Amino acid sequence: MFVGIKSTFEGLMTVFKHLFKRAVTLEYPEKKKVLNDSFRGKLEVNGCVGCGVCLKVCPTGAISYQKDGNAKVCNYKIDLKKCIFCGNCYYYCPTGAIKMTKDYELASENKEDLILKYEGECRND
Ligand code: SF4
Ligand code: SF4
Repeated sequence: MFVGIKSTFEGLMTVFKHLFKRAVTLEYPEKKKVLNDSFRGKLEVNGCVGCGVCLKVCPTGAISYQKDGNAKVCNYKIDLKKCIFCGNCYYYCPTGAIKMTKDYELASENKEDLILKYEGECRND
């Protein structure tokens, strides 16, 4: 019985110790964490010139694109199922065409939603 009282007391002490401390969890999704500027979230691509650097530095092969008849980049895709958000493509892109946003709510029930598509469809006219 003494052991039961002792452990109940210790449990209550633990509760009281943390009662007035700042909460370490957030009531997500109602409240969202303030992200710092270096946060690496969803990638966005605009203005790719097709130099191929991102293909070389991506460690998981998440990036693919094609070029149309005018050597213009098209069908630029980033597969979020493969992307580990390392930021290599963003850091090494020589033209700044790749941006890393703070969007981290990327879960989906549809696998197609996890393929990000940029730079338009290929046209061969
Ligand atoms: S590194 Fe930048 S410019 Fe080069 S292919 Fe990738 S996104 Fe396009
Ligand atoms: S963030 Fe990393 S893993 Fe994701 S596409 Fe860019 S280089 Fe590949």
